[in-house]
Amino acid sequence: MVCGVNVTPLILLLAIGFHSIFEGIALGMTDNEGIFINLMIGVALHHIAATISLGVSLGQHQVNSKKAIFLIFFGLSLIEPAGIGIGIGLSDSPEFVESIVMSLAGGTFVYIACSEILVHEFEDKQHRYLKFFFFILGSAAITLLWFLNSQHSHSH
Ligand SMILES: [Zn+2]
Repeated sequence: MVCGVNVTPLILLLAIGFHSIFEGIALGMTDNEGIFINLMIGVALHHIAATISLGVSLGQHQVNSKKAIFLIFFGLSLIEPAGIGIGIGLSDSPEFVESIVMSLAGGTFVYIACSEILVHEFEDKQHRYLKFFFFILGSAAITLLWFLNSQHSHSH
């Protein structure tokens, strides 16, 4: 993207949509209940952040139609379950397929965060240090989850 000149809600929407479908497929292919629950918690947490970002972006671009906003979020909420359905259908496929799908889900999310949200947020010079502080805080919280998670899986 052209260095986040302005985050078009449409690109953000497409990126989140792509991310959700791959993530849903990866979730659907998971056959371990514990891993599935951990993933669900992670999904719920980062999707709160993603949908707030999308909401802010829609607001900044004066998308005021209640109908459009409803359709966008309603449509988005259907993509992940659809992906899960596809994933369940693919659950017999070899393990590397799940790895590829999971990588696509992770990669698209890193793209969303770095190219569509962070660049745009830090371009605005106001409250930069505060934003940076919360960026570090958020990264630390997610890293902590990862540590808790890996400890949990080692105990089995
Ligand atoms: Zn996600």
